[in-house]
Amino acid sequence: MGLIVQKFGGTSVGSIERILNVADRVIEEKNRGNGVVVVVSAMGKTTDHLVSMAKEISKNPSKREMDMLLTTGEQTTIALLSIALQEKGYEAISYTGWQAGIITESVHSSARIMDIETEKIKKNLNEEKIVIVAGFQGVTIDGEITTLGRGGSDTTAVALAAALKADKCDIYTDVTGVFTTDPRFIKDARKLASVSYDEMLELANLGAGVLHPRAVEYAKNYQVPLEVRSSLVRESGTIIEEEVSVEQNLVVRGVAFEDEITRVSVIGLPNSLKSLSTIFTTLATNRINVDIIIQSTIEGNGANLSFSIKSSDLEETLSVLSAVKETLGYERIESEQELAKVSIVGSGMISNPGVAAEMFEVLASNNIEVKMVSTSEIKVSAVVSEKQMIPAVNSLHRAFQLSEALLLSEYR
Ligand code: ASP
Ligand code: MG
Repeated sequence: MGLIVQKFGGTSVGSIERILNVADRVIEEKNRGNGVVVVVSAMGKTTDHLVSMAKEISKNPSKREMDMLLTTGEQTTIALLSIALQEKGYEAISYTGWQAGIITESVHSSARIMDIETEKIKKNLNEEKIVIVAGFQGVTIDGEITTLGRGGSDTTAVALAAALKADKCDIYTDVTGVFTTDPRFIKDARKLASVSYDEMLELANLGAGVLHPRAVEYAKNYQVPLEVRSSLVRESGTIIEEEVSVEQNLVVRGVAFEDEITRVSVIGLPNSLKSLSTIFTTLATNRINVDIIIQSTIEGNGANLSFSIKSSDLEETLSVLSAVKETLGYERIESEQELAKVSIVGSGMISNPGVAAEMFEVLASNNIEVKMVSTSEIKVSAVVSEKQMIPAVNSLHRAFQLSEALLLSEYR
């Protein structure tokens, strides 16, 4: 007998009918003889709705009260699912994050899990109960309710699977797996049979919304086998594991993309290391995430510095940088909005030189101008104009043969 953690996302529990469907999927797993722990998200768009209600009252509601508010979403789902399971004749018990012993650091709105006290859940599992835990929430050692950041239910599920040493963690969602690129925009996108943790981590960080990046990090650290699959369609999903076998090893396994990116350039920066550190410390203390950074030195004139940010952070970036203008002594700041980042990801890049060159060739031959570049061992990202994002993704997807990727059935 094994132990399985199942996680169901917002759309999978979006209505009473869907919750009853989830109950059936849970019962199937239980009837296979497995112990089952279920983690659920808030129903449908509940979290967004709660956020907008608070925003109607205050532009800047306190993070503590936001956590208090948002955790009610998941609390509704756990109770309804438990009632559904009991109605179908199964013993089930629901727990909020704090009842489940999910201890987090003392940070509101994006806390990390520090520890999980599993005694209670283990006892319930021994009693053959189905245990249902609210995703996305925990408690500090001082008894304060916290949340793990938007999309954090995935992390709850993986962390529970690790703490309980579960055999597997199944992430049920509204798509049938991890695709070579977003199937909503690119019609040739194919479902991948498997992806490595590292590739999935890059894809998740580069805008593939299917999994919370922190959940993938956790899965890798604790070697929790994951499967992303559909709660509605019965077919195998995508396995995420440490090593993906060579036959399936496409050099590029996926194309990720993200819009609403802005490039900020600080022009005429006196050439000193101190100003670089001042700029990035200032941005970091204001919690502005900087992605790609490019510095060019101009003889005699100091340096120009460009970096990319989320467009929603532009206003704040400009205001914090103008506050340190005197200290830094730069000439002026320019910004270019409506940009997008297109990235190719694949572990095969490590042993195949020339992938970046091929990417730029493909983009150039499609008349797509590249404005910024960044690379890691297993990814290359290019910043392009937002208008050219989808054409860029399409041409890369084709050039790296992802549209022709073997069908699942062909390599399983
Ligand atoms: N309900 C939360 C959100 O919408 C957490 C989650 O679904 O993972 O972000
Ligand atoms: Mg999600």
